[in-house]
Amino acid sequence: IQPLDVVAIRKDFPLLSRVLHGKPVIYLDSAVSGQMPVQVIERMAHYEREEHTNVHRGVSTLSQEATDHYEAAREKVRKFIGAGSVKEIVWTRGTTEAINLVAQTFGRMVVKEGDEILLSAMEHHANIVPWQMLAQEKGATIKVIPMTDAGELILESLDELITERTKLVGVVHVSNVLGTVNPVKEIIARAHAKGVPVLVDGAQAVPHLQVDVKDLDADFYAFSGHKLSGPTGIGVLYGKLAHLEAMPPWHGGGNMIRSVSWEKTTYMAAPGKFEAGTPPIAAAIGLGVAIDYLTGLGLDRIAAYEHELLVYATERLSAIPGLRILGQAKEKASVISFVVEGIHPHDMGSLLDGEGVVVRAGHHCAQPVMTRFNVPATTRASFAYFNTREDVDVLVSAVQKAIELFS
Ligand code: PMP
Repeated sequence: IQPLDVVAIRKDFPLLSRVLHGKPVIYLDSAVSGQMPVQVIERMAHYEREEHTNVHRGVSTLSQEATDHYEAAREKVRKFIGAGSVKEIVWTRGTTEAINLVAQTFGRMVVKEGDEILLSAMEHHANIVPWQMLAQEKGATIKVIPMTDAGELILESLDELITERTKLVGVVHVSNVLGTVNPVKEIIARAHAKGVPVLVDGAQAVPHLQVDVKDLDADFYAFSGHKLSGPTGIGVLYGKLAHLEAMPPWHGGGNMIRSVSWEKTTYMAAPGKFEAGTPPIAAAIGLGVAIDYLTGLGLDRIAAYEHELLVYATERLSAIPGLRILGQAKEKASVISFVVEGIHPHDMGSLLDGEGVVVRAGHHCAQPVMTRFNVPATTRASFAYFNTREDVDVLVSAVQKAIELFS
């Protein structure tokens, strides 16, 4: 495959030419939020300047135009993840809202007292807390698929963990802390063999791998626009049509009904019945452009380039004495979490910030993962297709400088 022209790509990202504390910014925080190329920013600005109105509202030319753009973005999402129909693409505010939607509708419908929900040991809080809330409401139990010290799920445990009481398996596709790419296709097949549906948290997967929900046979697949070179405030829930049709609506209001009277209200078919109120229209259109941008570069080329960067960064960081990388899975994507003996990750994060290097320090909304590896927090560098080996070199020098300062 043709390599990416990263020099040209970087010109599309205005933020990359900023200066922080007198140093050129090195953005290694795409797992927190990706950067948007100007094409996305300008398309959204154009909508706001020239096209701003509401969607699905009557006969005005403007409203029809906005609706067309908004629905065209939904079609782009459908194609991007290989879904069979746009009816299976529900707009949400992000991954978190998508998972809450499933918990509060599908979950409430199928989970009864004494039932079990099976999650993996490396879930983000977004795929833990909604299920705990549901479990508490219903008197159900959460069970956990354990992982190895390398940060790989122990699949042998599945046979025992999936019981006749399991109503749903929730698993993250790519861990935001460890970078592990989980074998979700296999997990789904094994859950399905026992008749159990699977929700995949794809927040960190869609920016880095070509995802095909039909090939995976996922029941639900959730992700956020802002990690996919798109804006905040928009995300996606993919659900198999049969599930979406069987699920009750969630939020009630305008835009999601067929008819309302004081006696009885009837709802639109999916996905409309899950989309009450006015959506973030510019954001949805922007996400469509982000998908065009990524597809234009080619997900296979992005994956190959990012893999090289990951290998290079892993080699260089591993060579630093006292530095430990959490997550040594065979299949990894674009994330390196590390701790350095004697330096709190927050101090490391601040010192790197002073060098213009933007990383995340903290528990990464995955406290059970911190507990599993017996650390309070980690420093995490995450890579995108606009990063370079020079970015990695600056990171490594900054880490070395921090270590000298602390020793
Ligand atoms: N799941 C994973 C794996 C994530 O990395 C994130 C974002 N940190 C989320 C869920 C939540 O995404 P959002 O905040 O966009 O809803």
